[in-house]
Amino acid sequence: MTLIGHFVEGKRFVGTSERRGDVFDPATGRRTGEVALASTADVAVAVEAAARAARSWRDASLAKRSAVLFAFRELVHARRDRLAEVITAEHGKVLADAAGEVQRGLEVIEYACGIPSALRGAFSENVSTEVDSYTLRQPLGVVAVVSPFNFPVMVPLWFVPIAVACGNAVVLKPSEKDPSAALLLAEWFAEAGLPDGVLNVVNGDKEAVDALLDHPEVRAVSFVGSTPIARYVYQRGTAAGKRVQALGGAKNHMVVLPDADLDLAADAAVNAGFGSAGERCMAISALVAVEPIGDALVARIAERMAGLRTGDGRRGCDMGPLVTAAHAARVRSYVEAGVAAGAVAVVDGRDVQPDGDPGGFWLGPTLFDRVTPEMSIYTDEIFGPVLSVLRVGSYAEALELVNANPYGNGTAIFTNDGGAARRYQHEVEVGMVGINVPIPVPMAYHSFGGWKSSLFGDLHAHGEDGVRFFTRAKVVTSRWLDPRHGGVNLGFPTQS
Ligand code: NAD
Repeated sequence: MTLIGHFVEGKRFVGTSERRGDVFDPATGRRTGEVALASTADVAVAVEAAARAARSWRDASLAKRSAVLFAFRELVHARRDRLAEVITAEHGKVLADAAGEVQRGLEVIEYACGIPSALRGAFSENVSTEVDSYTLRQPLGVVAVVSPFNFPVMVPLWFVPIAVACGNAVVLKPSEKDPSAALLLAEWFAEAGLPDGVLNVVNGDKEAVDALLDHPEVRAVSFVGSTPIARYVYQRGTAAGKRVQALGGAKNHMVVLPDADLDLAADAAVNAGFGSAGERCMAISALVAVEPIGDALVARIAERMAGLRTGDGRRGCDMGPLVTAAHAARVRSYVEAGVAAGAVAVVDGRDVQPDGDPGGFWLGPTLFDRVTPEMSIYTDEIFGPVLSVLRVGSYAEALELVNANPYGNGTAIFTNDGGAARRYQHEVEVGMVGINVPIPVPMAYHSFGGWKSSLFGDLHAHGEDGVRFFTRAKVVTSRWLDPRHGGVNLGFPTQS
């Protein structure tokens, strides 16, 4: 049994904690590894290593920092297939999907390679006679990143390259369900020339997260996970005086107006509903059909679902298993609750015949029609391959439904009416909007983040917000003394 430990100050490290978690291959159900669950003392070792490294890394030139990022980008690019295999082995998503996740992570590394430009300050000459003023952005010191199971590579890469490029040292705490990819990233960063201690990985659970939230040397925390934990992390971290951005859960709606191209809308609903077995924070889980197109749209979606192959992600299937047996049981219980509440199960994923080991954590794609807003399959984030169709009579009703939902991560509208689309982008209370695009995950040079219960904090992930989150601004006013500037004057300084 492989023991998956931590990575601190450039070396693998097991720590003193004897607590362990199980790691599974979700497509076979077999336990493939044990992960060390860090104690508070183990976390302190990592934070102290990061604090030592931060003192010199903050002074590394921009040229040096970007050279390390370029080298890291080359390593990840060259080894992307290996990374995808590691993701599939512990998460279960199919290899093509895992490769897509690596690609989206690479885009953030590429953005961070341009840090000399992103960190440029502003200079104003002669704000007063012979007085200049300029702004700088400086690193925070030690920052922590806590990531969820569903993107073991992309989510750490939303934050780590930018934090490091800005001159910080990082302690990354990946999900204990699929911890191996983060260790590879840290080793490859070291191989790319990142000094020891600038990026450390501690594996663990609540104890490790609490230790990071409480450690006085940790200045900022970027968290991604479910809404209750995100809220908790935000409250505990900010109460301890830290800067926190905590991205939470989602319930993403796709509104289809009657004038939409129904074939394109059906393709999009299937791709965004069942990709990665619905374990994406940008998955579409509620499809809002504006009548009279409900019947036609449901028929087209069901037709496409008949062609989907669920099975082992290494066998070229369309959709893999769920991440753990417990999660598969939870999602299955939502399907049962949907049937019991009177929703129409047009396609029932419990009947799936997977192309894979019978011990895998299987549940096939499930389509519910005639779902109503009080059913638990609508109110809760299921995080599985379950797509619910709600039917409404008008655009106004669709908008009201979406805006009444407590989550506000992503949404999409399908229509050929530019005016309706523009109205939706203006009126909807959601952080990321797709117009005829089902998963509007912004590119690395824009920022990623939801509204309402989908994000606690002010700044979003990566892009300009990422640079702002991982730096503090300083403004300098400077005058090089000239004998003409002498003299005592107690009046409030103004321009002259
Ligand atoms: P999770 O909340 O269970 O875990 C996230 C992280 O928090 C993990 O590292 C975990 O070890 C840690 N954690 C778990 N319990 C904790 C506790 N009690 N105290 C402190 N830390 C704790 O989430 P998950 O199941 O790994 O991931 C799925 C969730 O993440 C979904 O809700 C999904 O919507 C969300 N997500 C959101 C985004 C986004 O950008 N908004 C992106 C990806 C995933």
